[in-house]
Amino acid sequence: MKLDFSQLNKQTKQSFIDQHAVIKKVMHGKVVVCEQCRQPLILITPEQSERPGIGCSKGCTFISLEFT
Ligand SMILES: [Zn+2]
Repeated sequence: MKLDFSQLNKQTKQSFIDQHAVIKKVMHGKVVVCEQCRQPLILITPEQSERPGIGCSKGCTFISLEFT
């Protein structure tokens, strides 16, 4: 059996790029919807939650952000 990681790495890199695109859009006030539930993604600040990031209200999409 041969393990092929090339596809996995490609997908990981792509999702990284996608996440950055989503973060940029939300930060600029553009509406991005969750791919799962079609709810708009919202910015969760450190004041609002212990886990700041960008996600939908249902929580199926969540991108954690580092606020420093
Ligand atoms: Zn969702």
